[in-house]
Amino acid sequence: MKKISILGSTGSIGTQTLDIVAHAPELFKVVGLTAGSNVDLLIEQARQFKPAIVCLGTKELADAARLHVPPGTRVVYGEEGLIETASQADADIVVTAIVGSRGLPATLAAINAGKTIGLANKETLVTAGHIVMERAKQRGVAILPIDSEHSAIFQCLNGEKRESIKQITLTASGGSFRDRTREQLEGVSVNEALNHPNWSMGAKITIDSATMVNKGLEVIEAKWLFDVTYDQIDVIIHPESIIHSYVEFSDHSMIAQMGLPDMRVPIQYALTYPDRMATPTNRLSLVEVGKLHFREMDFVRFPLLRLAFDCGRLGGSAPAVFNAANEVAVSRFLSGEINFLDIERVVESAVSRHDVTEINDLQAIAEVDGWARRFAATV
Ligand code: NAD
Ligand code: MG
Repeated sequence: MKKISILGSTGSIGTQTLDIVAHAPELFKVVGLTAGSNVDLLIEQARQFKPAIVCLGTKELADAARLHVPPGTRVVYGEEGLIETASQADADIVVTAIVGSRGLPATLAAINAGKTIGLANKETLVTAGHIVMERAKQRGVAILPIDSEHSAIFQCLNGEKRESIKQITLTASGGSFRDRTREQLEGVSVNEALNHPNWSMGAKITIDSATMVNKGLEVIEAKWLFDVTYDQIDVIIHPESIIHSYVEFSDHSMIAQMGLPDMRVPIQYALTYPDRMATPTNRLSLVEVGKLHFREMDFVRFPLLRLAFDCGRLGGSAPAVFNAANEVAVSRFLSGEINFLDIERVVESAVSRHDVTEINDLQAIAEVDGWARRFAATV
């Protein structure tokens, strides 16, 4: 029986993780769940899965939940509660499905407690990849990717040596606006941006897909997960999202991982690794699909992808600033405060205003992250 905690259990990844768990109750036991503010759904999940501990964003929400959870479930709240749930003694694996760099302290707490990490929360690796990977290595903790591209690469690399990798290629669907020119992006609405052609995901990552920031974050995520250089990472557009990513080896052999776009497959693989199990998802028929398409990434059309590569190469505090500024810009766009193309303006000006420094601890990261957030909120 594998014991699982899920940070961000009420979101898109969190609910799909619970769907996998519900299909195999003989294999998995949920021991911890956390949510930001969706108290009703968290209570429902607590009643169904009976975890030992649940966490909500605030004391008020936690007090409201306490009356309705099963008798054996303890309710905690806030940053401390999140860290407590993440490092909970009983869990074997912690699925990090919180959105944004606020997931970082809890992820590190889980690693310190020796938990295997099922990593969906890519912003933590972008913000502090060197710290997270170093700590995981020290503690002998595995970081298993849930992001579909990274799960694909992880599967392609099974049994391969890192020295054999020539290039890793991340595929990108292109997001909601892939067939529009830059001129056609003036004044697009929040609802249009939230309408992703292939994937149903949380709001923030859906906007990140439209700006191609998501692929930029994934480039940095791949660098840390697979210990490759930025020159070894490429991105192409693949509108069908059937090939989830592929690796080219030194002998020019390529291995790709394929499947229908359904996040439950990579989530499940992280939960069952190194084993596989039957799944409630649909099968892929290549005959039905017929054709797959690929085209070169356009770095002029998507300047924030280029900037993500630049920040990754700069290293130090640069990726943390890129990420934090983007988090704020996306939330300002979602609230109607700025236009879609302003997301680029906000992120670019935060990065160009910032002097890159070394950052080697959580305190330094929190300072840089905080500066970028304050700057991005007003520019
Ligand atoms: P979501 O918005 O659907 O869910 C986010 C979760 O985080 C919710 O449970 C929410 O309650 C919780 N949360 C939000 N603010 C919080 C706060 N202040 N304190 C505590 N908890 C808080 O997001 P999602 O789409 O599930 O994405 C989660 C992560 O997974 C992101 O890092 C995203 O990039 C990554 N990811 C998502 C997908 C996908 O298909 N949705 C695919 C790949 C990677
Ligand atoms: Mg992805």
